[in-house]
Amino acid sequence: MKRKRETCMMAKWIMGLMIASLASLAHAQDTRQHFAVAPTQPAELFPLSAVRLLSESQLSAAVNANREYLLALEPDRLLAPFLREAGLEPKAESYGNWESSGLDGHTGGHYLSALSLMVAAGADTSDGELNRRLDYMLDELERCQNADGGGYIGGVPGSRELWTKVAAGDTGAVWNKWVPWYNVHKSFAGLRDAYLVANKEKGRKLLVRLGDWCVRVTADLSDDQMQSMLNNEYGGMNEVMADIYSITGDKKYLKTAARFNHRAVFDPLIAHQDRLTGLHANTQIPKIIGMERIAALIGDPREHDGARFFWDTVSKNRCVAFGGNSVREHFHPSDNFIELLKDREGPETCNTYNMLRLTEQLFTADPKAVYADFYERAFFNHIISAINLDKPGYVYFTPIRPQHYRVYSQPENCFWCCVGTGMENPGRYGQFIYAKANDGVYVNLFIASELQVNDRFAIRQQTAFPYESVTRLEMKLKQPQELTLYLRHPEWVKTRQLTVKVNGQPVAVESTPSSYAAVRRLWKQGDVVEVELPMHTRVERLPDGSDWVALLHGPIVLASPTGTKDLPGSFADGARMGHVANGPMVPLDEVPVFFATDQELPRHVVRDPSGKPLHFRVKDVVSPDSPGGISLKPFLSLHEQRYQMYFELTSPEKMSALKEQRAEEDRTRATREAATIDQITIGEQQPEVEHDFKGEDTETGMHEGRKWRHGSIIQYTLNTRGEKAAELEVTYWGGDSGRAFDIFAGGTKIASQELTGDQPGKFISIRYPIPAMAFADAKDHTLTVKFIATKWLAGGLYDVRLMKPTR
Ligand SMILES: [Zn+2]
Repeated sequence: MKRKRETCMMAKWIMGLMIASLASLAHAQDTRQHFAVAPTQPAELFPLSAVRLLSESQLSAAVNANREYLLALEPDRLLAPFLREAGLEPKAESYGNWESSGLDGHTGGHYLSALSLMVAAGADTSDGELNRRLDYMLDELERCQNADGGGYIGGVPGSRELWTKVAAGDTGAVWNKWVPWYNVHKSFAGLRDAYLVANKEKGRKLLVRLGDWCVRVTADLSDDQMQSMLNNEYGGMNEVMADIYSITGDKKYLKTAARFNHRAVFDPLIAHQDRLTGLHANTQIPKIIGMERIAALIGDPREHDGARFFWDTVSKNRCVAFGGNSVREHFHPSDNFIELLKDREGPETCNTYNMLRLTEQLFTADPKAVYADFYERAFFNHIISAINLDKPGYVYFTPIRPQHYRVYSQPENCFWCCVGTGMENPGRYGQFIYAKANDGVYVNLFIASELQVNDRFAIRQQTAFPYESVTRLEMKLKQPQELTLYLRHPEWVKTRQLTVKVNGQPVAVESTPSSYAAVRRLWKQGDVVEVELPMHTRVERLPDGSDWVALLHGPIVLASPTGTKDLPGSFADGARMGHVANGPMVPLDEVPVFFATDQELPRHVVRDPSGKPLHFRVKDVVSPDSPGGISLKPFLSLHEQRYQMYFELTSPEKMSALKEQRAEEDRTRATREAATIDQITIGEQQPEVEHDFKGEDTETGMHEGRKWRHGSIIQYTLNTRGEKAAELEVTYWGGDSGRAFDIFAGGTKIASQELTGDQPGKFISIRYPIPAMAFADAKDHTLTVKFIATKWLAGGLYDVRLMKPTR
């Protein structure tokens, strides 16, 4: 690209002959060699191969655990679904769990990515086993692609029939499979990573042919057909097709990529409207990554702004202290976190994996410290905490339910989405520590590592952060070089508290929280930069402003370990829902609270007597009172135990009001029992049998400690005990939505009920008067009640009872 020359250009050029020019900064390892089309952006990430983690740390232990996990998987078993769908004989049996129940092959795609990332990060075994497996996978997938004849590589059961239908316009066929585009997206992403991250030319070849297959399958679909199909989760198909355009420069891939832009989700974001409540969270994040990728490639400021708005609203309004979002995989109302607080299915690791990828992209477009602040928080508190080091396994849900626990995957049994992204994470640890600026280097994260820009320039960063609040950067240069080091001043370091020394001498820097302190000079071999980052303990409420708070020291979320007993299923078996921590939940009125305000609380957090870094105790304000207070440790260090990360701020007055409220509830309950004619304990075998339960398509489960049942038809028979009039009372969960049904008593329709999710976080009971004519049908003191779905489902029913009329 031509640039305007400035008059002083010649002088600068002569200077440039004397000191190595910055243009050579990333020459040797420039990833742009892979691209025919690449956006010009103010910042650029270094290739993974340019960064190495140093020393024995939790990070290097996690990389080792990840390697062990990857080696425990058998490539031939992961490949089996691909061979089967290509009409070839599988060499081994497919794995079970999600690999044999419709999402067959998704793990194989993640495995390609994970191997590529680990190899590029220098984390292979000493004999190169991961690299060998990567080559083997590519060879086998090439066989599959050749056998298929149409370029396809995927394990979706019944692939040929499905994609033939889709190509012919039957886009509804995707609903009869388990998110097939999402699944195939993993093949695309794996091949892309094999090429872009691990430099495998074969990855490029297979990827481009797979891209041709995608172009063909979607070619004859109308925009309406495409948009309607995009309601089915499709991963980041727009991103990978845009990547193929970037690699080849052929616009047909860009055109297809844009067809995977989901307008129903994107258009409100462009209008700065957060309409995310109720949406499946991790369905959205990857498509926003694609939205930003295309926007960067074609320079579309509107779409870029929409992606940025999404990031803003999710990171600020929808994330808890550790950087995760969503409950039971869905975005809840941003002004009400109560469901998330109470649920065993807290934030999902995939969501944060994808939020970090989006953060990296937005940072390169607009290198602001706010992106790195979020990245650091989510990285240290969620990503690193989601892998078990002692017995390698990955976490799906991280509940914030006080005193609940987490479940880890096991290699032979578990093939969840979060296993797929979980095995990719450790290879990516070095991705965002540094970034290239036009005139220097950003230091985003404080992690012991070495950045080898080329054979003339490296930076070695040594630190035990977050266990110490200082980092040291040593310049390793063949010859002096002038450039700017952009040292992040984190949001959690107060104004004027960040200090920088070069070779022991203080350097004046101007920076405020959440910015970069710029140090520009002519650097020489061996120059050492020391950055002090004083940490403080602070209190952070849930974004809804409710009285539940987390404590952080610097960027590190602290949590109280609350016991290692009673953790059923904490190493998951192959059960479909084995990733959920289904053990008993501790009642919320039994967990400790703090009698303090946000301002008072930090004063009651003291160093733990053990003196261990980042270990604290909360004293004097804990109720119920416990001798010595309660212990707080970095959440990232707590595994295989129950924990409390959120605490309620309250006061003795509020507590006694709460007690009075509970007494009142007891009185109400007694009155209610006196008015009850008959009642069914839903979902329990004996009471349901006694009430002659019948149903169609029904399921039952637990929520908030209570059992539910839903279905297309549910029927019970109640005992009227000779009463002449009654009302039917039914209890629902106020957060259930999208369901409508008719209610019949004794053959008479008594109500039409719709559940819209308008009362989240609590149970609601609704009374329906029963007309006299319905009672006339009640023979032998029995009355049949029936719930028939008119939209999706009837229920969930939590309680059904016949009540004396309220008069
Ligand atoms: Zn997941």
